[in-house]
Amino acid sequence: MENIEQSCTFCSIVAKDIPSEVVYQDEQVVAIKDANPQAPVHVLLIPREHNLESLNDASKLDLSLMGHLLYTAAKVANQLDIAESGYRVVINTGDASGQSVAHLHVHVLGGRHLAWPPG
Ligand code: 5GP
Ligand code: ZN
Repeated sequence: MENIEQSCTFCSIVAKDIPSEVVYQDEQVVAIKDANPQAPVHVLLIPREHNLESLNDASKLDLSLMGHLLYTAAKVANQLDIAESGYRVVINTGDASGQSVAHLHVHVLGGRHLAWPPG
């Protein structure tokens, strides 16, 4: 686990070894601006612990964290003034989704019309 964390971009961000723009944080999660934003508001919610590489790793033991991530998504959307206009919460999972960082994270996107279905 130690080696994984050392080589994990999001663990490095949580540890502040890689700088980021933090918009919210608490004991479980750090919310940062995405470095390559796909919308005017594009935030990543990153659990502080590297327990789950993707949603596929989640078990019943993680229900509290999963709930907290969704709750935090709504809270951050409200904080960044996209709650009323609308926003999208995304968890890319696995290769076909384009997941590129193997440390569970939640995207919060808003500030423009978001097409459906997604690409
Ligand atoms: P994924 O494709 O795994 O769902 O999302 C990973 C996201 O992390 C991408 O949107 C990418 O732009 C973002 N990202 C990757 N490296 C960094 C970084 O060092 N800093 C920040 N702020 N975002 C990053
Ligand atoms: Zn990690």
